[in-house]
Amino acid sequence: MLAINQKQEHTDSYYAATVNEKTDYPLLEDGHSADICVVGGGFTGTATALTLAERGFSVALIEANRIGWGASGRNGGQLINGVSGLSRIAKRHGHNIADMIWDIQWRGNDIIYERVKKYGIECDLKPGFVQVATKQRQLADIDEYVEERVRHKHPFKYEAWDREQTRDNLGTDAFLSAFACYRDGHLHPLNLCIGEAKAAHELGVKIFEQSPVVGIDHGARPRVKTMHGYIEADSVVLAGNAYSQFEPKLLANLVFPAGTYIIATEPLSKEIAYSINKEDAAICDLNEIVNYFRLSADRRLLYGGACNYSGRDPASIKAFIEPRMLKTYPQLKGTKIEFEWGGKIGIVLNRIPAVGRIDNNIYFCQGYSGHGVSASHMMGEVMADAIGGTMEHFDLFANEEHFRIPGSQWMGNQIIALGMLYYRLKDML
Ligand SMILES: Cc1cc2nc3c(=O)[nH]c(=O)nc-3n(C[C@H](O)[C@H](O)[C@H](O)COP(=O)(O)OP(=O)(O)OC[C@H]3O[C@@H](n4cnc5c(N)ncnc54)[C@H](O)[C@@H]3O)c2cc1C
Repeated sequence: MLAINQKQEHTDSYYAATVNEKTDYPLLEDGHSADICVVGGGFTGTATALTLAERGFSVALIEANRIGWGASGRNGGQLINGVSGLSRIAKRHGHNIADMIWDIQWRGNDIIYERVKKYGIECDLKPGFVQVATKQRQLADIDEYVEERVRHKHPFKYEAWDREQTRDNLGTDAFLSAFACYRDGHLHPLNLCIGEAKAAHELGVKIFEQSPVVGIDHGARPRVKTMHGYIEADSVVLAGNAYSQFEPKLLANLVFPAGTYIIATEPLSKEIAYSINKEDAAICDLNEIVNYFRLSADRRLLYGGACNYSGRDPASIKAFIEPRMLKTYPQLKGTKIEFEWGGKIGIVLNRIPAVGRIDNNIYFCQGYSGHGVSASHMMGEVMADAIGGTMEHFDLFANEEHFRIPGSQWMGNQIIALGMLYYRLKDML
């Protein structure tokens, strides 16, 4: 049995303060049966449950806290195509799967756009994501983004901006150039997650909140247990990501939790907001440890960045993040910071999400290395496909070898801190 100290309400974020509706699904009590039991009510779990329900499966979804309580309800809201580590998979398989990889990398975005429309989810979804170069060597990345779109005859709008256009569009001289992709975008992640859960519930998914799973009995029909009840199902999907401690024998040492943090200013005037983000896009730099920012629907600047591997949050998130914001936008000095919060991302050493199956009927999918809004939706479909017997995409990820560090459940933070020091040094060059 796992010792889990959960059953919490949402963290004090801008998102929790502006949620469309608060969820209050029941506790899991007594015994229930379903075709599939999904554990974890973030994007991975909710998207998997919704896809399965759309395909006619009976599904139970169990969340330890509230729907969207984890990274999914706290993130930067940047909708960015792709899956971290996908380029490594592509390299290993060569040209014969290049088109398949290109399609997979957009699937998460497409699912989100489709669902927001189909279920009328109000989550401030807007097109536009801009990657900015802070170093000379990153200019080659921007050329590559253009080239790959030309190669794939990409029918969506994209633009490369030179230094002057970047300065003009973003109101800062901090960047050398930029690449804008309008098939990516940004959104209010908590409202998206809650909206998807609501759609799943309306399709018959039984959702339970404040119900930490404390153990799983394996077998032909595994039993997923909480303190007060259980679900028996043909298959189980584990989607607890960085907050998960499931199946420690098999899954420990694969995904390492790291803290990352966001601040939100007071609402900016229309003029200032326009002067720092004419396209109203999400912005992210091209470093390994990224800074990212965007405007909220009520024109706050949401600015995030940094990674913390100590397992402890900084005493003041504002003091940690505000200097980064002011480095990009010195003109915002004196602007009030009204929200500060953080959450955990799941880092995988080779950056490829840890996907697989235990005993043929317990599936897991975790570790997007900080890049999961779109990827988790694609993975929800991959999980549902696998459960339905179509293994092609599942196998692509599940066949990846992951490097494990024995004993890292005890010293994991130090190891990841060392690993990230390498990335920090790389960013400094
Ligand atoms: C501050 C921050 C900013 C980010 N910004 C971006 C961004 O702008 N763009 C982007 O693409 N990605 C971003 N990410 C990453 C992205 O949010 C994640 O990759 C994604 O949300 C992961 O979704 P998930 O469902 O796998 O995990 P989570 O959202 O973490 O959900 C896991 C859920 O499982 C539940 N759980 C755990 N254990 C149990 C248990 N025993 N029983 C029941 N439930 C359990 C947890 O309570 C949690 O709700 C950011 C992350 C953070 C923290």
